[in-house]
Amino acid sequence: GQDLRLARISSAIRVIPNFPKPGILFQDITTLLLDTKAFKDTIDLFVERYKDKEISVVAGVEARGFIFGPPIALAIGAKFVPLRKPKKLPGKVISEEYSLEYGTDKIEMHVGAVEAGERALIVDDLIATGGTLGAAIRLLERVGVHVVECACVIELPELKGRERLGEKPLFVLVSGD
Ligand code: AMP
Repeated sequence: GQDLRLARISSAIRVIPNFPKPGILFQDITTLLLDTKAFKDTIDLFVERYKDKEISVVAGVEARGFIFGPPIALAIGAKFVPLRKPKKLPGKVISEEYSLEYGTDKIEMHVGAVEAGERALIVDDLIATGGTLGAAIRLLERVGVHVVECACVIELPELKGRERLGEKPLFVLVSGD
């Protein structure tokens, strides 16, 4: 059943303390990718949820949204749009800033990748403070796209990232704390 799949996914994620800095418990999804059954279950669970939701675009957040987003997009018949760190995309971009603990960061999307009125799913591996996904939502909404939901493999609920997404629904498979 579903609980067995989620338990397998959860145990396939490796937790590495003090990476990349002291005090951070890094959730390493590369070990999930090595477990062929757990990786397939991860994608299947998202596909089962989104296949009949008329989603035309899956937007993946750099970098690990580029691992989970494309197989979901292919399976539900949607296009894939990368949301990238600054200065990576070669064409004309629109960008959206968000605040970090110290300073700010930005994500960018190619102009013309999506059209007003499209229905999008935003995918990343993990939600921590929600700053990244919040910026992704604003970026797509600025060009008239309807963001149906955000989907992550892992949530760190103690950081209350959901509160930064406003009313936007968030679907996660496992909890990281
Ligand atoms: P945030 O914007 O604070 O929600 O951070 C989410 C982004 O940072 C995602 O793209 C994650 O891949 C990455 N991230 C934040 N915290 C962790 C963590 N503890 N383990 C792995 N990745 C993390």
